[in-house]
Order: sequence, then C-alpha cells, then structure tokens
Amino acid sequence: MKTRKCNHCNKIFYKDKCSYQRFCSAVCSLFNRVDTLDSKKCWNWLMYVDQDGYAELTYKGEKIKGHRLAYEFKNGDIPKGKQINHRCNNRKCVNPNHVYAGSHKDNMHDRMIAGTLSGEKHGMAKLNEEQVKYILKVFKPYDKIFNGIALAKQFNVDSSLIYCIIKRKIWKNVQ
Ligand SMILES: [Zn+2]
Ligand SMILES: [Zn+2]
Repeated sequence: MKTRKCNHCNKIFYKDKCSYQRFCSAVCSLFNRVDTLDSKKCWNWLMYVDQDGYAELTYKGEKIKGHRLAYEFKNGDIPKGKQINHRCNNRKCVNPNHVYAGSHKDNMHDRMIAGTLSGEKHGMAKLNEEQVKYILKVFKPYDKIFNGIALAKQFNVDSSLIYCIIKRKIWKNVQ
C-alpha cells in the first residue's frame, strides 16, 4: 500500500491501490474546496451541485451530499427520519454551523421566513396582494399616517410584518 499526505489536513494516509486520491477523508475533500476562514459565513460549494442545488462531491466513487456530510462532521449520524436543513437557506452552503437535522416542515418554515416562498398560497394570508401593493406604494418612514406602525394598525397586523414587506423579505413577487 502506498501512503501519501492529505492535501487538506496533511495527515499521512494509505491510498487505495490504483486510485487517484488526494484527501484522507471525504470531509477533507469537502472542506478543502470551500472558504472556511469565517465560521459565521456561508461556506459556498462552487463545484458540482445536484438537481436540487445541493453541494455534491464524489469520494472514492461514492456520491455524497455536502450539507449532510457537514452535519455528520459536527454532530455524528443523522437522526432517523430527519433531513438536513439549512438555517441560512443557502443550499450550496456546507458550513456545519448552518445546518441542522429537522423535518420537511421545518424546512418549509425556514424558507418562508427567508422569503423564497411568499404570498397568499403559503399561509401568509394575513394580507392579500392588493394590500401589499398598497403598503409598498404609500409607506414613508417618518410619516404620521404611512409609517410602519401606523400601517400595521391600519391592517391589524404586527409591524414586523410591514417591515418585512418594505425590506422585500416577503411578498417579493409583488411589484
Ligand atoms: Zn485529511
Ligand atoms: Zn450558510
């Protein structure tokens, strides 16, 4: 068996016969190809992504999902019946601090909060499209009648909802 030094962690490992292998583990192969300098930022995978937009790498002939590997690296096995979701709503991200084991429902919730889904169809039915258009049109930060809090009162919703609309975090499809 031949040994070689891992391109990422410098560990000496045994190479499989005939294989071209530069990393000692799938994890090294993953983290070597993302910018891991800032533990708070997204670690964006810039190589192959699968049809759903998730990072995908091949290690020893096996296809591995980057975000799942990142989760396992930090937490161990993925609990049965759970899927790995992104807190950052960025499927290319493989930062272990940005992924968690949750349900499909958690995932939908996160996406809604992040505004990739919006509108009446997805449960944000407190306001309708016409009202959102109106809010976008009339909102003025320091105006007596048309500031966020006043508009919230007018529509009987939480003012945070108005600010989410103004900042274009939700109802992004409304012009
Ligand atoms: Zn390594
Ligand atoms: Zn992220």
